[in-house]
Amino acid sequence: MSAAASARQILTQLHEVMAGRHHAQHKLDRVVEIIADSLTSEVCSIYLLREGELELFATRGLNPEAVHVTRMGIGEGLTGMIAKNIETLNLAEAKAHPDFLYRPETGEEKFHSFAGVPIVYRERAVGVLCVQHVEPRRYEDVEIEALQTTAMVLSELIAHKELVDDEDTIDLDEVPTECEVLEGLTLVKGLAAGRAVFHQPRVEIDQVVAEDIEAERQRVYRAFDKMRDQIDAMGREPEFGKGGEHVEVLETYKMFAYDEGWSRRINEAIDSGLTAEAAIERVQQRTRMRMREIDDPLLADRMHDLEDLSNRLLRIVSGQLGTAATQGLRRDTILFARNLGPAELLEYDRRRLKGVVLEEGSLTAHVVIVARAMGIPVLGRVARVRSRVAEGDEVLVDADKGTVTLRPSQQLLDAFDARFTKSRERAATYAEMREVEPFTRDGTRITVMINAGLRDDVSALQLTGADGIGLFRTEFQFLVSSTLPARERQMRLYRDVLDAADGKPVIFRTVDIGGDKAVPYLDNDTAERDENPAMGWRALRLSLEREGLLKAQARALLEAASGRQLSVMFPMVSEPWEFDAAKAIFEEQLDFLRERRKVLPEAIEYGCMLEVPSLAEVLDQLLPRLSFISIGTNDLTQFLFAADRANPKLAARYDWLSPSILRFLARISANMVGSNVRIGVCGEMGGRRLEALALLGLGFTRLSITPAAVGPIKELVRKVYLPDLTSQMQRWLISPPADMRAALTEWALSNDIEIE
Ligand code: PEP
Ligand code: MG
Repeated sequence: MSAAASARQILTQLHEVMAGRHHAQHKLDRVVEIIADSLTSEVCSIYLLREGELELFATRGLNPEAVHVTRMGIGEGLTGMIAKNIETLNLAEAKAHPDFLYRPETGEEKFHSFAGVPIVYRERAVGVLCVQHVEPRRYEDVEIEALQTTAMVLSELIAHKELVDDEDTIDLDEVPTECEVLEGLTLVKGLAAGRAVFHQPRVEIDQVVAEDIEAERQRVYRAFDKMRDQIDAMGREPEFGKGGEHVEVLETYKMFAYDEGWSRRINEAIDSGLTAEAAIERVQQRTRMRMREIDDPLLADRMHDLEDLSNRLLRIVSGQLGTAATQGLRRDTILFARNLGPAELLEYDRRRLKGVVLEEGSLTAHVVIVARAMGIPVLGRVARVRSRVAEGDEVLVDADKGTVTLRPSQQLLDAFDARFTKSRERAATYAEMREVEPFTRDGTRITVMINAGLRDDVSALQLTGADGIGLFRTEFQFLVSSTLPARERQMRLYRDVLDAADGKPVIFRTVDIGGDKAVPYLDNDTAERDENPAMGWRALRLSLEREGLLKAQARALLEAASGRQLSVMFPMVSEPWEFDAAKAIFEEQLDFLRERRKVLPEAIEYGCMLEVPSLAEVLDQLLPRLSFISIGTNDLTQFLFAADRANPKLAARYDWLSPSILRFLARISANMVGSNVRIGVCGEMGGRRLEALALLGLGFTRLSITPAAVGPIKELVRKVYLPDLTSQMQRWLISPPADMRAALTEWALSNDIEIE
């Protein structure tokens, strides 16, 4: 008999048992009889995990007295090893295996052969199904296949409480496995604790046994078609066009999506009587088991992609689309994802989302900036973390140290609590800095403003005592909307922000969408997609061409600021005419409002970001037309180094403290001397203590930074004696030390300035 036929025979009978109205133990007893008969085995037993141990729940062939008496630890005996390693054992002579453990109460001494498979639920063993034979022979492959398929059906039945009495609670969710500490790259500092949630949730399989095999087959065919369409469409997305990791992933996706072997195996699983969902999961389970035996990181990466794709197929076939954000978070959450877009992150409930762990990610990717704005610690570059954590696992993120702890021990929990308390105390110290003005020791007043983008961010102004909002990223509103925000909605947001700022200055930056801040409603009607979105049709380039968009935003800003001061800043200005063109649109809208006798802003000032290196070369031409300039070091760095800020492979490659950046900034700072134009820095760089120190040394006295950094930066400022720092920086600029970071750190320490 084929593996499929053999499994189908068991499943059909299981189906009948499940339809009966007996109570759970009786059903379980029948199940072991059916399996034993089908595999002509003297023994069939089911062990399930209860209170951390594998308990014999049903047996045919072993001593019935042993049921609910015999218990094995995870890793104890053959059964325990199967559960621990999530592996299949097939032995002609069980006693010869080094892990064999004899339990006299079972009366199993007369049986020689032994085969066991784990009962897996959510990638964890929650039990073991085994068969035993008097005759010493290994089980056939078809029999093992049938056993594995049956184990999978059992796991679903157990999860749905159809095979266990309510009081027999099985450890489904809280399966104890070991604590693990993984390392990653700190993207947003901070500590967080919560339960693991996958951004792309696992699909719950409601029905495992098929009613109509042909119908299931058709469902899988349709899902495959749809998935292939999606993958092909992905290839047309801008992010996949620019080489590097994304392209490799896509190639692997394509390879699997069109892989005949994969679809054939799913089909075979359907033949054995499984539904489409269960068949996909069954094949995936088998792949996972094989993977555990192979120790090849390259292959493991591939399998990771297959896992992604398999989940995609499951979601399509089951219609369970959407992310964890759509389903809502129910408790303090640590979110796990391969990568996230800024808009996807913004969909989460900020009160429940405590931390994010990514397998990819880079320091200045917009999702990271958004997370920073939301005050959510993010750890990136944690290799294959999603296969090592289960939904619901307890997780500690220490993004200060760059670690994530899965299923922490009590000792680690206590240590973490202590750190948490300390960090809260430190935060409280910084909060006390709220009223303190950031003067350097030599009496220079440094302006410390915050970067914001969400309505709620504005409260940080009061909490931190910052001098204003140096960068309000208006595109955040566009990112969270599924359609283009109407002018009236924009106006309300800007007005609320100005109200909340209560007279403190706010610099509104016009939309910087495009790049890694893609919005679907604008991309849809562009015929071609950008090969290289960061350097493509984004920010002011897009706004000038989509004049309607900038007009609407200009009007919204002018109306919101009626009777008040309005500061407008344009992003990605590369040549002076772009600034003129953008300003002209505002002036035109101003005229329009003036003609209609509306109350105009009391004063309007215009400025621009300096984030495209070309602009630095023509600053002299631009300066007379500007009131202020703000250096966007995030983009500036990516353009100076030709290093995509969103590419995880380059995340740790270039340093903000490299001589190229520092000399470039120094030159701009020198070129500003004598002009009345205010200059500041609003990139992420300014919010880091060591980098901020460098900026102060270069002569910058205006910083706009992430709110959480205001306290630490104010405290730093008050320890600095600027004349010393600037002259040291001058010397370094002329002949840079081999390691600027080390040199500056040493300088800081010798001046009693703590860096961490
Ligand atoms: C920058 O580029 O440094 C900047 C502040 O703007 P954004 O990060 O929004 O591109
Ligand atoms: Mg920028």
